[in-house]
Amino acid sequence: MKKTIAFDLDSVLADVMVTWIEEFNKKYDSKITKTHITVWDIHKILPITEIESYSLFRYVWKYKWQKIPPTTENIPDIIRNLKVENRISIITRREKETIPYVYEWLKTNEIEYDDILFIFDNFKKSMYPFHILIDDNPSNLIDIKSPKIAILFNQPWNKNFNWPRRIDSLIDLNKNDIALNDI
Ligand SMILES: [Mg+2]
Repeated sequence: MKKTIAFDLDSVLADVMVTWIEEFNKKYDSKITKTHITVWDIHKILPITEIESYSLFRYVWKYKWQKIPPTTENIPDIIRNLKVENRISIITRREKETIPYVYEWLKTNEIEYDDILFIFDNFKKSMYPFHILIDDNPSNLIDIKSPKIAILFNQPWNKNFNWPRRIDSLIDLNKNDIALNDI
């Protein structure tokens, strides 16, 4: 049986915060970069409310999705290589109105996948069927138990989270990572 590798979308496949920050800087006439976002709750370090922050996120996906870069340049090849021997799943928690743009983004960036799962409530990602999850949100990883594997995708906002298995780029997700999963 093929193993299922599940990818989070935001900040694991799509480097959405790069575009979010571009729009934030335009709107608030500031010059922050992604490295400034060192906490998960952006509204705690930037002069923006939580609602405004989510609203900007929605705006970016709806109107600026073409500007959202992938987290790695050669993402199509990386995913295609992994897909030879594994199932590629995308599990993403989001608001329904951004879904059409997610499909467009994945198509434009030539990311192949076997299934995609949209979560609209607070149901835990750990409850879904996968062998390996790659996510940048610590709260999605903490309750994942062996034999499932949880890999944290490094981003400035998760640096302080103590987690043994991390990658900086999808390039690091080589066959060794997959082989470590002895299920
Ligand atoms: Mg994410």
